[in-house]
Amino acid sequence: MAALRLILADQLSESIASLQGLDKDQDTVLLCELMEEATYVHHHPKKIAFLFSAMRHFTAGLEATGVRVRYVKLDDPANTGSFTGEVQRAVKELKLSRLIVTEPGEYRILQMMQGWQAALGIPVEILPDTRFLASHAEFAAWTKGKKQLRMEFFYRDMRKKHAILMEPDGKPTGGEWNYDKENRKPPKAGMKSPPRISHKKSAITKEVLALVKERFSHHFGMLEPFHYAVTREEALMELEHFITHLLPNFGDYQDAMVTGEPYLYHSFISSYLNAGLLLPLEICEKAETAYRAGSAPLNAVEGFIRQILGWREYIRGIYWHFMPEYSERNSLNTTRPLPDFYWGAPTDMFCVAEAVRHTRDHAYSHHIQRLMITGNFALLAGLDVKAVQEWYLAVYSDAYEWVEMPNTLGMSLFGDGGIVASKPYAASGKYIHRMSNYCEKCNYDPDEMTGEKACPFNALYWDFLVRHEDKFRGNQRMPYVFSTWDKFAPEKQKSIRAQAITTLRKMSGGTL
Ligand SMILES: Cc1cc2nc3c(=O)[nH]c(=O)nc-3n(C[C@H](O)[C@H](O)[C@H](O)COP(=O)(O)OP(=O)(O)OC[C@H]3O[C@@H](n4cnc5c(N)ncnc54)[C@H](O)[C@@H]3O)c2cc1C
Ligand code: SF4
Repeated sequence: MAALRLILADQLSESIASLQGLDKDQDTVLLCELMEEATYVHHHPKKIAFLFSAMRHFTAGLEATGVRVRYVKLDDPANTGSFTGEVQRAVKELKLSRLIVTEPGEYRILQMMQGWQAALGIPVEILPDTRFLASHAEFAAWTKGKKQLRMEFFYRDMRKKHAILMEPDGKPTGGEWNYDKENRKPPKAGMKSPPRISHKKSAITKEVLALVKERFSHHFGMLEPFHYAVTREEALMELEHFITHLLPNFGDYQDAMVTGEPYLYHSFISSYLNAGLLLPLEICEKAETAYRAGSAPLNAVEGFIRQILGWREYIRGIYWHFMPEYSERNSLNTTRPLPDFYWGAPTDMFCVAEAVRHTRDHAYSHHIQRLMITGNFALLAGLDVKAVQEWYLAVYSDAYEWVEMPNTLGMSLFGDGGIVASKPYAASGKYIHRMSNYCEKCNYDPDEMTGEKACPFNALYWDFLVRHEDKFRGNQRMPYVFSTWDKFAPEKQKSIRAQAITTLRKMSGGTL
């Protein structure tokens, strides 16, 4: 029976389940550039260009091996703009009698797919996404009987299952599971990351850039310069470059932030991995090989592997385990609108402006900027969880709901009530001052708590804790912070809270 095999923009892997068993004589592969998907949140132009170009290159690769592909370009006059419309059109025009898809990374699209069998009147097979290292059933089994779903224990099971950084006696390599305590060094003075790769633009990429410029210039973010890898070969070059030149320092400076350095020693592979140009196990194996060959230290390699084998798989597990109810959570009842400085309006907070600048220019900022600058501010200021999630989903080239939502709602905003994070990632300006050189350039002073020059993070930090005292005072990981607050004189407490009100007013008035 001739099949239509739909490939989504983040399924650009030859090993994707829906391409297995393909019959080159009968089957057709469908890829489509859709207005609905590019605009349901206003995705960063670089993200749209990266995905369209990667899809077109992936298609060329399939066609070169004799696979029949129906590729619907955005500006094709017949393009209906939606998945359902394009699948319907292809089935009808090509007279195909079954549809094969791989499960998507978003609950909304899964629901859509589940309605297709009835709508199309042909069998629809939704296959599991076997590129992930833990299946839904495996994750669900792991959660059974657990009061808390801590990533660390899930990660240890994944290390054992995939024999990554494990010794023949069943012990973790080096004797410890986790070397995070070695991975919190502040940046050295004058620190710069080694140069990154910039890829030559192919004719396909140039055509896509012209299209995106014409259609999506009003979205937040700079389209050019465009430096992304768009093929598996180029993505593998990025990975090799990281393993050779950056991985050795990844651990030490994982939490550091430096002005003008968006990547430092981070890998910048998440967009490629999430779109399917790279696969998680091959990345972990290459990192382990670097350690075994003596070219990268254990704290760096273990820390890096934990992000992929641990955090990434765990985050996906959380999303599918708790959806759709997860998306409605807002455990701290936050409602404040997102200030304009998230979209590039001026702010005197240098750290926020710098993280937003990196985001605007590269559709990227590294984990600590996302968590401890833009995320931390949103948490302390009580910004509306939906608006914050929409921002993260739109502005980063690696953002898909399965990975964005638990990171934003769960890890960053504590909006899931503590499933992902055992305590809120809340920090004052002191943390940012220690881990970056941002404060040197700022109009605010990280050492001041109150007054015109006081760093806004400071009063907001205490105000946040006191605002949610009922939730956090009993938290076993937070007794120290509340005992510090209790030791402040009542007048000091009062002035801190008054400062927080002034800060929030300035934020609303656009003058922070
Ligand atoms: C509020 C917030 C939103 C985020 N949204 C996304 C998102 O939409 N998409 C996304 O891929 N990551 C997201 N992350 C996680 C993380 O910040 C990015 O994966 C990372 O910054 C990507 O850059 P990199 O490739 O240089 O990563 P590195 O720091 O080099 O890490 C290596 C890889 O580990 C994986 N990884 C690391 N941390 C996480 C994590 N917490 N969750 C899942 N994978 C992880 C990524 O695949 C990454 O490429 C978010 C984090 C926060 C705090
Ligand atoms: S002083 Fe405060 S607002 Fe300014 S850069 Fe430092 S932490 Fe950010």
